[in-house]
Order: sequence, then structure tokens, then C-alpha cells
Amino acid sequence: MVAAEVEVRDEGGLAACGAMQVPESERPERANTTLDQRGVVEPARQRKIIHIDMDAFYASVEQRDDPALRGKPVAVGGSGERGVVAAASYEARRFGVRSAMPSVTAKRKCSELIFVKPRFDVYRAVSQQIRAIFAAYTPVVEPLSLDEAYLDVTENLKAMSSATEIAEQIRARIRSETELTASAGVSYNKFLAKMASDERKPDGLFVITPRMGPAFVENLPVGRFHGIGPATRAKMERLGIRNGSDLKAQTLLFLRQQFGKAGLYYYTAARGIDERPVCAGRIRKSIGAETTFNTDIFAFDEAWVVLGPLIAKVWAYCEESSIRGRTVTLKAKYADFQQVTRSRTGEAVIATQAAIEAIVYALLESFFPVSKGIRLLGVTLSSLSAETGGEHQLRLPI
Ligand SMILES: [Mg+2]
Repeated sequence: MVAAEVEVRDEGGLAACGAMQVPESERPERANTTLDQRGVVEPARQRKIIHIDMDAFYASVEQRDDPALRGKPVAVGGSGERGVVAAASYEARRFGVRSAMPSVTAKRKCSELIFVKPRFDVYRAVSQQIRAIFAAYTPVVEPLSLDEAYLDVTENLKAMSSATEIAEQIRARIRSETELTASAGVSYNKFLAKMASDERKPDGLFVITPRMGPAFVENLPVGRFHGIGPATRAKMERLGIRNGSDLKAQTLLFLRQQFGKAGLYYYTAARGIDERPVCAGRIRKSIGAETTFNTDIFAFDEAWVVLGPLIAKVWAYCEESSIRGRTVTLKAKYADFQQVTRSRTGEAVIATQAAIEAIVYALLESFFPVSKGIRLLGVTLSSLSAETGGEHQLRLPI
């Protein structure tokens, strides 16, 4: 099994928010230019994007509020049989404990690991505090989760010309107002800003300038690319693609043949190009998590074990955002890439993780026995509404 990635789909999705724009020709050096009315090629406006990411967020909040946890390996999440680590302190990470890891595995890696129950109301309150800080600089903020957001500061409310300076101010304010640290990445697009925020973690800042961008990506191992999970990485490695430079050497046609629609993203990302705008106020349509297996699955029990962490991730997102749903969808992709989905929609919103588990269990039963191996399983929750309200869709930011 490989790590799952939670995916949040938005209303209008890529279209509304600006899909990855492809260079029309295979001449990416032209992609960032526009033709003006006189037919003169002008460089496109250079954007200034910041990615802010709180350091080990849930775990840091717990260590802040309980001095007994400071300096100790802490995992936020359930310690039970089916528990999953939602966040790990840096002390725990030194033992190899990671978020999304089954708690049983985490305990094996670190026997002194202290499990703490998540307090989502507190995390949401801190998230409100940091969003208020962002709002002082720009209205163009796209939250990715409670502790992470993109900011477009090309035009900003302080009329500051340096995005780096803005990022430093934001980090300083977060520290003084929440007693927590954040890392920042500054660059000219979302992809590179996100990569940059990882470079000096924790409590760091890193800038990728337009001059640095292409070389930075060339040296990046493919596993570190945002959007390349362990299964894709393994496939790329089989094809001899180990870093950005190897990826850049492939044609768009080849990448499309090998990776379908994602091929285009890899093609442009390998060139440090990402035209997606920062989108404020998204509408969430669904919350999903899926995982691709290194070896195909044939047995019901095996599939059920794999679904536990996926359901936990979806539920954690519900808790984080105070969003609930009425429809559960189970998706399976077979070894021959045939895809099957089954859903169940209730009258009322699903109130507990156990209720989602029961529905997924019943849906999974309907898939078995299988005549061919399953290579991917996914769980999605839709027909979303705010936890308390009766609205069927919720306007974000959460
Ligand atoms: Mg974080």
C-alpha cells in the first residue's frame, strides 16, 4: 500500500480556477509571453506568489498548549487499532513517524510516542487568526487546508514591492499572535512557491526567483514534485525518470501516453511553468481520498484494511472544515484500468466516521468477488453542507 492523497474537488474545478495552461507549441520558452496589439512579444506580467505552511500544525498547537508535550515525540490522532496519525511533531518525525501513517505502525517506530486526541475547534480558531493576518496583505488567498494557503501579493494592500518582505512580516505576525511558527515559500507561481516553503522547514523562508526556477526544478527528485505520489514515482523510476531534468527530457506526447491527463502537468511543471491563478472563495463539491497499490488486490479483507486510512482522512477533513456530506462513493479501478463507482445517498448528513465506514463496507461488499485485480480504491464524500446549516453547498474560505 502507498500513502493516500486527499483531494478536494471544487466547483468548476480547473476550468473556473484556471487549468494548467499548456504551451500551445512545444516551445515552452514562449509560454510566458503574450502578443500585444502591435504583434510584439511582451513578457507576461510577473506574478508574486507566497505559500505559507504552518510547521507540524496540530502537533505544534498541542505542544504550545501543554508544556509537558514540548520536546517530546507527539502524534495527533487516534491510538486505537484503526487509528491514523493526523500530524506528528518534529521529535516524532525523527523516528520516521509521518502523517497518514497507521497509528500501529507509528508506535512500532517510536515506542515513547505520545498520542493526543485532535482538538479541531482549537485548530480552526488558530486558522482564523492566520487568515486574518493574510487578509491584511491581500484578498487573494486560497486556503489548501487549515494550516496552508497560497497568497497572490502581486498587487497587495500594503503597496509593498517585495513579496519576500511580506512573507517575513506574515511569519513574524504569526509567531507573535499565535506563538507558532510558519514556513514560507516565495516564487512566481504556485508550484514553485509550494516547493519553496518545504526548503527551509521548520520556521524558514525560501525564495525561488525566475532565474533560479528552471535549475531548481531540474535538480528536484520527482518524488518531491507536488502531485507525484509514491505509485507515480515508482512508475517514473521504472522509465528512468528520477528528477526534473529527466522529466524535462520527455516529450509531451510520451508523458500523455504514460500518465494520461497528468502528463501535461508534469510537462509544464518540469519547466517551472504553472499558470494556475490563486483562487479565493472556492466552492467545495466533494472530499475524496484514494490510493494506488503497488500490487493489485484480490481479497475483500485486504481492500477493507486499505480503506480504513482513506475514510479517516476524509473524516479528518470534515472535522477540520466543519463540513458534512450525504453521499458516499466508493471507486475501484481494476488492473485493466476499467473504473467502477458505487454510491449511496442518505436523507440526512452523515454524522460520524463509523457511519461512513458502515456505508463503505456495504458498498465494498457489492464489488466482490472480483475477477480481476484492483489497482486503486477511493472514497469520496459529496452533497456537502456546513455541519450546522442546511445548505447543500458551502462557500469557502472555510
Ligand atoms: Mg503544515
